Amino acid sequence: MYLSQVTSLVGGSKTSGARSAAQELRARGISVANFAAGELDFAPPAEVVAATERALRADTNRYTDTAGIAELREALSVRTTRLGGPQYPASEFMLTTGAKHGLFLACLALLDPGDEALIPSPHWGTFAAQVAMVRGRPVLVETSGSGFVPEVALLEAARTDRTRMLILNSPNNPTGAVYSQETLQEITSWAVVNDVWIVFDECYRELVEDGVHAAHPVSLVPQARDRVVSVNSFSKSFAVTGWRAGYVYGPPSVVSAMKHLQSHTTSHVSSVLQHGLLPAAQGMADGFQEEVRITLARRRGMVARALDAMPGLSYRMPQGAFYFFVDVSGLLGGTVCGQEVCTTEDLVSVLMRESHVGLTPGSAFGSATHVRLSYAIEDEEIAAGLERMAKVVADAG
Ligand code: PLP
Repeated sequence: MYLSQVTSLVGGSKTSGARSAAQELRARGISVANFAAGELDFAPPAEVVAATERALRADTNRYTDTAGIAELREALSVRTTRLGGPQYPASEFMLTTGAKHGLFLACLALLDPGDEALIPSPHWGTFAAQVAMVRGRPVLVETSGSGFVPEVALLEAARTDRTRMLILNSPNNPTGAVYSQETLQEITSWAVVNDVWIVFDECYRELVEDGVHAAHPVSLVPQARDRVVSVNSFSKSFAVTGWRAGYVYGPPSVVSAMKHLQSHTTSHVSSVLQHGLLPAAQGMADGFQEEVRITLARRRGMVARALDAMPGLSYRMPQGAFYFFVDVSGLLGGTVCGQEVCTTEDLVSVLMRESHVGLTPGSAFGSATHVRLSYAIEDEEIAAGLERMAKVVADAG
């Protein structure tokens, strides 16, 4: 059967494997610690749930503006600045079906076939897939030698006359890195000088450790305003990954082009959700976010202490998001529970089988030496899972 060429360029998301393995074990009554999930284990804030219920019963059943209802864009404009981000008017915001669709629209709006997009790697796999889907060329820039930060020298070495875009993600999935102001300033200035678009994915912006500030390129380099498209989401900040609501803001001409593209694809974010998420954008759920931050800080400490006691593993302390990106090269090439472990996939499958722990192999993010561990799961699950994992790792030879 003939399928379009683009279907051969991308496979499905590689981060869902552990979910199915965990479901299978749980169906057999086995307790599993699934550290592979990329979402918070919280219910959404009560204010948001109540507003969504009200919206269902109110007169919200019609199409909205493609960019989203004005009150929500207004609230996002105020919130973005209030949380230390740059100032953009409501007219330069657009609601999208998750950050994912916002990122895709940015690729559609900014890349022509053959254009190159630089992607610091390890990276969230969807970035490269979306560039490929619009017939661009994803160019991975390896950052494991520079603390998972894409230094300008690395970007410059990868730049060609086809380089159109740089996709930045800070706080970062999968590494937990948050780019410092100095680094981000240097990168942004480099992009301006070289006429490179920055697509700035700040989905985890509100999930940073105490004392860490997630900087924004436009706050640091105001001349970059015409060169940066920002992409954010309600998914991670408000525990509503399944609802599919995100937003973009950027130069009016780009947002307007993205609006045209959105008008012919998804039309707009569900009208019910737009009304339901209004209290979140207006800051009424800030208490919920504080609770999430405190919980994540506690869990980060639990994981760090457990990993410190496991031989063969090392990590950089995450500063944001909710992932440890653990270097497991000390275990590769040996055996674990009598089984040869050559790749991160081998290790992940042994750990699932022997310790009922779900992790995501680094290969999902372009790394042959790391695994990703999410700490957005319950404390008891973390404690029990890491105890079982420690026993298995201790048996490595
Ligand atoms: N960007 C990054 C870096 C992510 O990790 C994810 C989800 O895991 C997304 C975007 C997608 O977010 P959304 O649920 O808003 O589409």
